[in-house]
Amino acid sequence: MITKWALAFGGLAGIVLVYRNWLHVNMATVALTLLLFILVLAARWGLRYAVVISIASTACYNFYFLPPVGTFTISDTENWLALLAFLTTAIIASRLSQAARNEANEASARQRELEMLFRLSRDLLQTESVASLLRSLPSAVVDVTAGRYGMLYLMEGQRAYEAGTHVVSKVELPHFHQLASTLSTASLEAEELLIPIRSGVRPKGLFLLRGVNLSVETANAIGGLISIAIDRAQALENVARGEAAKESERLRTLMIDSITHELRTPLTSIKGAATTLLASELGAEDRHELLSIIDEESDRLNRLVSEAVEMAQLDAQQVQIQFEIVAASKLITAARENCSWVEEKHSIVMEMQEELRLNVDPSLIEKVITNLLENAGKYSREGTQIKVTAEKQGEYVAISVADRGIGIDPAEQGLIFERFYRGRFNATGAPGTGMGLAISRAIVEAHGGRISVVSQPGQGSVFTVILPGAGPLES
Ligand code: ADP
Repeated sequence: MITKWALAFGGLAGIVLVYRNWLHVNMATVALTLLLFILVLAARWGLRYAVVISIASTACYNFYFLPPVGTFTISDTENWLALLAFLTTAIIASRLSQAARNEANEASARQRELEMLFRLSRDLLQTESVASLLRSLPSAVVDVTAGRYGMLYLMEGQRAYEAGTHVVSKVELPHFHQLASTLSTASLEAEELLIPIRSGVRPKGLFLLRGVNLSVETANAIGGLISIAIDRAQALENVARGEAAKESERLRTLMIDSITHELRTPLTSIKGAATTLLASELGAEDRHELLSIIDEESDRLNRLVSEAVEMAQLDAQQVQIQFEIVAASKLITAARENCSWVEEKHSIVMEMQEELRLNVDPSLIEKVITNLLENAGKYSREGTQIKVTAEKQGEYVAISVADRGIGIDPAEQGLIFERFYRGRFNATGAPGTGMGLAISRAIVEAHGGRISVVSQPGQGSVFTVILPGAGPLES
């Protein structure tokens, strides 16, 4: 500020000195040079400097250049007029130049605000979840407006989200509530900008912004943007929730349909066997056969019901996964023990380069491996080999069960993981419910893993589960 004044007066003194002592030109040239200097001042530093220097220039012009030189007296009326014309021109020109300068400043401020609104809209309209939008919104507004502190207050649930150091206390909330319900346009008070957030005409909350210099129009536009962003995220979430509910309803109906269908077969067999037993005199052998049908079919019913319940729990995410660090070999051994009948009919070979550790729920994964071993046993000829391998795949461990059985038709490979799907082309007549692989897939995916199959009809199948590993076993 002081340097600017010193420079302005220094400039004036310089011009006077040059024209007095070295360059002897006519008075009009001196007047034009001074005028030019004043215009430059007005354009660069504003009207205040231009007016003061105009008056000082008039005095210097009179003293040093208008006859009689060296005095403030003016002998000629014509010179009076010249001096007056000089002062008026200087001041009018300065004002014009100041007005142009103000307009330019305003235009660039508007442009800056427009750019800011654009950036803010881009930031706010990217987030799709309401919770993360509300958390990031205050800091996005503070960043874009280069403010010091921002707080979003929402009337619904009396919630406040902040960015900056001030921490809103519970006592302040009713005050904000009151403000939000009455505020209709942005207002600036003592360095604090209050922006109403409304959905149509309904007040929804407010945004408090500190340390910014914004026009009311821009502040209102920010309010509009915030409100649109919140409404948009809410609408998107509602759509997603509606779709999830529809999907879960569809699954439930599908499940009930399949269960009723699947239950009917064993029930019909049991009913038929029981009726025959009751109605006719049968020999011991026939009776035994019918009783074993009842026994087998009720086992099947039992299995069906418990698997359906398990699947429903997995669907509803009611199964708690208890992650534990466990050795892969331990799980495989436990699974082998669960299905000892497979071992009786097949030779099971284990192949593992090193001991691998898994981070999984042991009881659930044991079930998956048991199911794979049972399937390998069911769908391959007696005496064939079953190979179990475990190998590291980055952070994961891949466990594979390979058989030399009947294989799976390529058209069916994508279907066998669906609930109740049983292979159409297998003529083995192996007992089953078609739920084993569906349950296995749900368990593996709940662990963040994957299950897949590679198979060739007539050659065999390899089922692979990829599960989270837990680094090498400490020695
Ligand atoms: P289930 O064995 O009770 O029928 P799963 O869900 O375990 O039900 O398997 C679904 C279908 O996938 C089976 O009916 C069978 O056709 C096919 N499948 C599963 N494992 C094998 C395998 N190792 N070899 C050949 N086919 C298989």
